[in-house]
Amino acid sequence: MRFHKSESAFFVFIVVILAAGALILYAYGLLRSDVADLYQPGRMQDFALLNRLLFATGVLIATALFFGIFFIYPLIRTQVKEEGKLRAMTKTLSARSETLEQAALTDALTGMQNRRYFDEALTEYLEEFSKIDKPVGLMVFDLDHFKQVNDTHGHDVGDEVLRAVAGCLKDMTRYHDVVARLGGEEFAVVAPNMDVESLSRLAERIRSGIANMPILSGNVRLRITASVGLAVWDRKESAEEFFRRADQQLYQAKKQGRNRVSA
Ligand code: GH3
Ligand code: MG
Ligand code: MG
Repeated sequence: MRFHKSESAFFVFIVVILAAGALILYAYGLLRSDVADLYQPGRMQDFALLNRLLFATGVLIATALFFGIFFIYPLIRTQVKEEGKLRAMTKTLSARSETLEQAALTDALTGMQNRRYFDEALTEYLEEFSKIDKPVGLMVFDLDHFKQVNDTHGHDVGDEVLRAVAGCLKDMTRYHDVVARLGGEEFAVVAPNMDVESLSRLAERIRSGIANMPILSGNVRLRITASVGLAVWDRKESAEEFFRRADQQLYQAKKQGRNRVSA
């Protein structure tokens, strides 16, 4: 077993104090004999011994004090300072990892949740909602002919459109809905507590909101539309199966002519 420097210093301190204590006890034993006896010629050696004992005790206590002030106290100070530094470092590290975690789940362009967050959230929502008798709705959005927007007006305008659509989705959903950019020009919303009718109405409102967004490229007003596929969880399918079903509806919406909702 290895002792830390401060522990060794503390042991030395205790040993010195114990030695001083033993000397005091011994001196006390001597004094308990009749004090007057000490002055008898035959007891002069005891008297001299008592003197030496008191001197040695004084030296030991001075040593202990010296040790305490110049070794133990500085060690304690250093340790307290190091601990403070360590705590500050841990705090910085955990703040940084929180930021990293946040970045890993956020879409850099729009600031909304990303695909990874969406997948985890959908699985979690289904798990929670399997315990209660409430529906979970899912909408998948894909912008129509978005490649043309990029090709005609440039990538920067395309990015602008994506940010505007993200803002529109955020504004028109509730705080507990999960709104995410899945990638490219695809978005999704998990809307708990919504049956097919209310979900269809919401999807229609958002679709129309996107179609009426006032986005300008120079003097030209862009007409952005989106197709929407939606599904309500059947309480049996997995998150992937549920998503695939909504995605198939999106495909139907595209096939039927775009800028529409398919349920
Ligand atoms: P459809 O109606 O069938 O969905 O046609 P579309 O043109 O929207 O679909 P397609 O998949 O052919 O093109 C998607 C385009 O989205 C291609 C790509 O240039 C664009 N895109 C993907 N990610 C970004 C992005 O981060 N910024 C910009 N500006 N464009 C992006
Ligand atoms: Mg697409
Ligand atoms: Mg598209």
